[in-house]
Amino acid sequence: MGETQPIKSSSANELKAPINFNEQDLSLAARINALSGENLNLCLQCRMCRNGCHFSSAMDYQPHAIFRLLQYGQYKQAMECSTLWLCVACNTCSVQCPMGIDIPEIMDAVRLQALEEGAVVAEPNILEFHRTVMDSIERYGRTHKLEIMLRYKSRVRDWFSDIDVGLKLMSKRKLDLRPSRVKDSKEVKRLFNQAWRG
Ligand code: SF4
Ligand code: SF4
Repeated sequence: MGETQPIKSSSANELKAPINFNEQDLSLAARINALSGENLNLCLQCRMCRNGCHFSSAMDYQPHAIFRLLQYGQYKQAMECSTLWLCVACNTCSVQCPMGIDIPEIMDAVRLQALEEGAVVAEPNILEFHRTVMDSIERYGRTHKLEIMLRYKSRVRDWFSDIDVGLKLMSKRKLDLRPSRVKDSKEVKRLFNQAWRG
């Protein structure tokens, strides 16, 4: 060991760079397992998760490749990939996983760890979108789509790239002007404080 060794894959976008055995973070998998309550070492690389994922063509690493990177302690590649931010936690992959791994739980844990450790966020606009949606839920207990759009656009300073979609939604009256609130907004606030800040 000691030298960088390529791991062959059948598809170009599975592992972009060779596994670097000189730069392994051997505690990475254990940290993610502890955070997610799952065991990523059970992954046997059958690739069923990749076949079921509707977003895999947009990802830089396929879901099973993330598991491989984590198993090999490839911190930078795993923590700084766009896949983390494109996964929408739909669970389609998990229901096909023969090992019963909750894949979105692992993705969540890697996202959290990446943020906590200051890793480069591959899709900063998606992170801003996450934040904007969560702010809305914290405020109202529900999403207020018009406000989310306006706040998000202002955060990323991009007003016009998809204005046609916004106008279409407005013309079809899909965007309420006023937010709708849940009755017990204090309880929502308490949950946020407990889960995020407590
Ligand atoms: S949970 Fe994520 S990785 Fe799994 S199928 Fe959905 S988008 Fe793909
Ligand atoms: S389906 Fe499960 S076992 Fe198969 S590659 Fe994906 S995570 Fe690993």
